[in-house]
Amino acid sequence: MSTQKPSKCCVCGEATDKRCGPCGKNGIDLFFCSPEHQKLVWKYHKQICGPNANPIRPPALSNDEIVVPMLLSPPPTFTNTHRYLLLSESRRLFLAHVEGIWAQVARFQLNSFARDLNMAMDITPYMDLASRMAHVLLIMIALVRLRTTEPAAIPLAWVKRAFERFADLVADIKPFQNAQDAAEAMSWYLHHVSLLTRQPCRVERESGTNKLVFRFAD
Ligand SMILES: [Zn+2]
Ligand SMILES: [Zn+2]
Repeated sequence: MSTQKPSKCCVCGEATDKRCGPCGKNGIDLFFCSPEHQKLVWKYHKQICGPNANPIRPPALSNDEIVVPMLLSPPPTFTNTHRYLLLSESRRLFLAHVEGIWAQVARFQLNSFARDLNMAMDITPYMDLASRMAHVLLIMIALVRLRTTEPAAIPLAWVKRAFERFADLVADIKPFQNAQDAAEAMSWYLHHVSLLTRQPCRVERESGTNKLVFRFAD
C-alpha cells in the first residue's frame, strides 16, 4: 500500500493515508487502514485491482470498428465513447469486456448516461465516475457477503457506510432532488442489499454544499 493525503478506510471507515498501490497507479484512490482490511475484501477487489482498475472505460477501437462510424459521417466532435454507445456491435464488445456483475453495472449505467445526456456531450468523465462506483460497489458486496457468513467479523455500520459512499457517487452523477427522489434512486440497490432494507434512512443536506446525501440512522 502507498500513502498520500488522508482519507477513510473503505472497509471500516477509520481515517488513514494508506491506499491500494496498484489501483492508485491506475487513477483510483481506494483507501485501506491495514493489510488485514485489504485482505478481507481481496476476493472481490482483486477482480478490478491494478490494470483492471477502470472496468467501465471502453477499450480502444480496432481499425475495423472505426470504419463503421466513418460511414455514418460522424460530426467532428464524435469521440470513441460516442462510437461505443452508437454502434451495437462495438457496444456488445465493450460489454463483453466487462464480465459478470460489471456487465450489469455497465449496461445499467451506460443506458442511463446515454438517455440523460442525450448523447450531446463527452461522457468520459462519467466513465471514470462509473469506475469509482464499481470499486465502491464491490467493497459493499464483499462486506454484505462476509456479514452473512461471519456476522461477528463485519459490523453492520461498515456495510451502512459502504452503502452511503455508493449513494454519494450516484448523487454525483444525478443529484437527488428530494427525499422521495433519493429513495427511488437507491431503492433498487436497497432491495438487493436486503440486510439494510429494514434500517431507517434519511436524506440530509451536506454541510458546506447544497448536495442532498443519503444516510442511515445509527
Ligand atoms: Zn479499515
Ligand atoms: Zn486495488
